[in-house]
Amino acid sequence: MLLMKCCNRCKGDMFVEEEGTQKALVCLQCGHRPVNGPAIAEKLLRRAKVIPRVARAA
Ligand SMILES: [Zn+2]
Repeated sequence: MLLMKCCNRCKGDMFVEEEGTQKALVCLQCGHRPVNGPAIAEKLLRRAKVIPRVARAA
């Protein structure tokens, strides 16, 4: 999931990074990770609910 122009450092695009149960927001352009990123990501994912995950390579 992409958040266009949401980075408060460089106004770049951010995406939700998921690692197991951990979620974070990461800027594509500068790699910035806001402190409240996990909370925002959590909220976004809950709202979006259906995010088809790319099937794992078998
Ligand atoms: Zn950035």
